[in-house]
Amino acid sequence: MRMRGIGGWLALALWLGRAVWLGGGLVHAQSQLPAGAMSGHPDPMLKFVSFVLDDVQKNWDRVLPAQMKTPYRHAKLVLYRNSFPSACGKAETAVGPFYCPGDEKVYLDLEFFSELKRRFGAPGEFAEAYVIAHEIGHHIQKIEGIEQKIRHLQETNPREANQLSVRLELQADCFAGVWGNSTEQRHLVNRNDIESAIHAAAAVGDDRLQRLGRGSVNPEKFTHGTSAQRVEWFRRGLDSGKLTACNTFGSER
Ligand SMILES: [Zn+2]
Repeated sequence: MRMRGIGGWLALALWLGRAVWLGGGLVHAQSQLPAGAMSGHPDPMLKFVSFVLDDVQKNWDRVLPAQMKTPYRHAKLVLYRNSFPSACGKAETAVGPFYCPGDEKVYLDLEFFSELKRRFGAPGEFAEAYVIAHEIGHHIQKIEGIEQKIRHLQETNPREANQLSVRLELQADCFAGVWGNSTEQRHLVNRNDIESAIHAAAAVGDDRLQRLGRGSVNPEKFTHGTSAQRVEWFRRGLDSGKLTACNTFGSER
């Protein structure tokens, strides 16, 4: 695991810290905290998550109508530890973060984030932002009707189901990259950070998938594609800033 080029992200973390500190109004925590959810987790993590979520969604407020003529509606965020009920089944720490199309909520497992930070340091922090942007990417797929179309295709072509899931995941990475494009324009992210962050998120995610027990309901349990594919599609969104660059279904890569 290479750990170079984290300066830009450290600057972003500092900038976020200051923005959150100075601008109380910037933080709109759309979170439902089950009792004890935050115990053992210092407030900075909640602030960081809230700030990134807000930043990602504000970007879609602007980009989605401009590029797709579709109004954006905000997803809700549920932070949890241990387990929490969702419309997609029970969210459990073992499964990691996921988006539930049924209730349009992102379920974030705070333990997953702690683990990213413990194991990867600063690239782990950018990885947290990337994970949030990826999950909101699934929300974009819901709004645009892509998720519904693909789910129908999967039901009618079960043999293609896994491959279609990979394409959905890579598209969510590309949509995360479209947000990344706006952070880059604001000079918040050093693009050298991106690769190590995506590898960090993938590594923690894959470890968790291996520990996943049977019977859990989680859209994220499907293959996400290789780390290289994920970086490639994130970069396409990052480079172009355009949703039309994210047609993973019409690509061999
Ligand atoms: Zn996903």
